[in-house]
Amino acid sequence: MKPKNRSTNCEGIVMPTKGTAEHPETPDRPSNGAAFLPMSAYFGINTFNDQVMREKLPKDVYIKLRDIIRKGAKLDPTISNTVAHALKEWATGRGVTHFSHWFQPQTGSTAEKHDAFLELDEEGNVIERFRGEQLVQGEPDASSFPSGGMRSTFEARGYTMWDPSSPAFIMEGPKGGILCIPSLFISYTGEALDNKTPLLRSMAAVSKSALKVLRLFGNDKACRVMTTIGTEQEYFLIDKDFFLQRPDLQITGRTLVGALPPKGQQLEDHYFGSIKERVLSFMQDAEHELYKLGVPAKTRHNEVAPHQFEIAPIYAEANVGADRNHLIMEILKKVANRHGLALLLHEKPFAGINGSGKHNNWSMADSEGNNLLEPGKTPEQNLQFLVFLVATIKAVHDYGDLLRASIASASNDHRLGANEAPPAIMSIFLGEQLTHILEAIRDGKMAKATAKSIIDLGIHNVPAILRDATDRNRTSPFAFTGNKFEFRAIGSSASVSYSNTVLSAAVADSIDILVADIEAEISKKGRELNVAVMETLRKHIKASEAILFNGNNYSREWETEAARRGLPNVKNTPYALDALIAEKNVSLFLRQNVASKVEIDSRFHTKLEQYIKNVEIETDTLLNMVDTLIIPAAVTYQNKLIQAVKGLKDLETLLPGVPAGSQVGRLKALTGLIESVEKASRNLAEAAAKAEAVEDLSGRAKFVVDKVVPLMDELRKPVDQLEVLVEDALWPLPKYSKMLFIM
Ligand code: ADP
Ligand code: MG
Repeated sequence: MKPKNRSTNCEGIVMPTKGTAEHPETPDRPSNGAAFLPMSAYFGINTFNDQVMREKLPKDVYIKLRDIIRKGAKLDPTISNTVAHALKEWATGRGVTHFSHWFQPQTGSTAEKHDAFLELDEEGNVIERFRGEQLVQGEPDASSFPSGGMRSTFEARGYTMWDPSSPAFIMEGPKGGILCIPSLFISYTGEALDNKTPLLRSMAAVSKSALKVLRLFGNDKACRVMTTIGTEQEYFLIDKDFFLQRPDLQITGRTLVGALPPKGQQLEDHYFGSIKERVLSFMQDAEHELYKLGVPAKTRHNEVAPHQFEIAPIYAEANVGADRNHLIMEILKKVANRHGLALLLHEKPFAGINGSGKHNNWSMADSEGNNLLEPGKTPEQNLQFLVFLVATIKAVHDYGDLLRASIASASNDHRLGANEAPPAIMSIFLGEQLTHILEAIRDGKMAKATAKSIIDLGIHNVPAILRDATDRNRTSPFAFTGNKFEFRAIGSSASVSYSNTVLSAAVADSIDILVADIEAEISKKGRELNVAVMETLRKHIKASEAILFNGNNYSREWETEAARRGLPNVKNTPYALDALIAEKNVSLFLRQNVASKVEIDSRFHTKLEQYIKNVEIETDTLLNMVDTLIIPAAVTYQNKLIQAVKGLKDLETLLPGVPAGSQVGRLKALTGLIESVEKASRNLAEAAAKAEAVEDLSGRAKFVVDKVVPLMDELRKPVDQLEVLVEDALWPLPKYSKMLFIM
């Protein structure tokens, strides 16, 4: 993905002319004020990409490895020693001393364990070595990673396995880099313990199913279908000093208390506003790091909320795209820290202010690079496009509950359905043109469809019209945006791997069903391909159209309408997760070879455990803040007021007529609030203790969401009222008005 025009592409990059602590000097940043390097000169220098492989590997090994990467061929173990050696040579030449398998346990983030290339020979001399088996397989002590009870600690060993389809990269460190090898994480009995393995399986499922459609339409060239994703990552930035003064932000990622400032986002003056210099400097540094890692960060802008921003890369194949999203999150955090900023990836760091999501743009492409969700130029291409489109609609219709479960987390609960960003109801936005076309097909206006009648309906115009007519429905959780779907309900802090696994598995399955129907129409009823396709589309549009909704997803009317249509509206994680083990969903995973029963159960348990633990941590943090920060501050102020009232009383005898009234009123209000806080805090502690006693995990999670979470909100109310009453200098936490309006 080299920029075509170097001069325009490097214009945007401003590099400091001198290395400073904040902007360390690196080989590609000239400190002598000499020429700026074009982006293409350093893009991907920290990845073992195709170019490096071609240079460093013997030709036969290079070709084998390339086939594994591009065509999904099986790993040939005989090449691993050669590849490992080349990797080591390349990495040590760039100052690297250690390597690590880099994997995605079910914690949602990535994990690494560094080993030096160091070995001792027979004489005890140090040599640098990296053997093939070390590249292919690693053995982290896996006992501390979530496994949902799949392994008890005494059989805790799991292993990591090289995933050659995602390029190895060097993560720069303060004193030398680490060679990171993207890997799978598997138990000794062969079950997936990570988020990546199921994702790869779901991509294989899509490929297998989608190829059948291509073959139906006479495409014999494509050998594989890829799932593609482009993730738009939202985040907040605040000054690190404020962050360090807020235990809630540090421990839970969000503010557990905090009153809304007089100016929030009402003026909507932040969205796409000019980027302030301090932020821009951070963004440019982060992008620079990402470019070196081969992550094609393309777009940056201010988001709706104050101090909220977005970064989006150019899309890639799903597993690479998912890896890159992890790298983006990691690099943003690291670089923010360097700039004296704290990066908040939480879905709802500030109550009452828009939350953050991760728009997951999703499509499929054949091995020739054709986007399968691109409306075609000919009627035949359009028919094929419609098959993929309707299959996706059917998938979201049939497995909306599972998609909902795939985005469920304690933190995303604060965002979904909270009158901004997608509601918890799954639905699809298609736009008017496409809706009109599907309705025509459904109503049989094209029952005897021939190439001609498709043209007559204007489908041949679809590409042109769609491109500019997809009015942006920002409220839809799942929107068609011209040549891809945008799944918008994923949380900003989540790994995108699992949601894409579910989506791809469901789409693969729907494609299989459509293909079987089309083939039956042809073989049993002797129909022509076009007619068979139209009949099949008609049937499935009818069966799935409840999921289509072009209106405002934030409105009350939609909730009512969705209920009438029978669409699930599950507002929180513990209930949403039930879908993970629902029979139809388990069958889907098994049928598409995406997860085994053991893996499904394990994920269900892991997700429940994570939910419970997250709320527990929040509850403990909140109670602790109330005890050690809020109440003491309020009591200090209370004492000041008591002194003031006493003083005024004393004055009364000297200066009759001086009123102590207003201070008394203030004192009363304050004392009342302190009491409310004490009471709400006791209630919360009691409920939290009760939750611990519920044995069944799902039952406990449900108890937590029904009985504990509302009490956190109850406690927050009087605390936030205190915040606007207590003297500013005494308030122990930085306020929203400070944290969110300084940059
Ligand atoms: P928007 O108007 O929604 O910002 P963009 O064209 O900027 O649309 O795309 C947003 C994201 O979608 C980017 O990451 C982009 O690379 C990605 N994207 C574009 N085409 C595809 C595709 N075919 N498959 C997956 N992602 C895609
Ligand atoms: Mg977009």
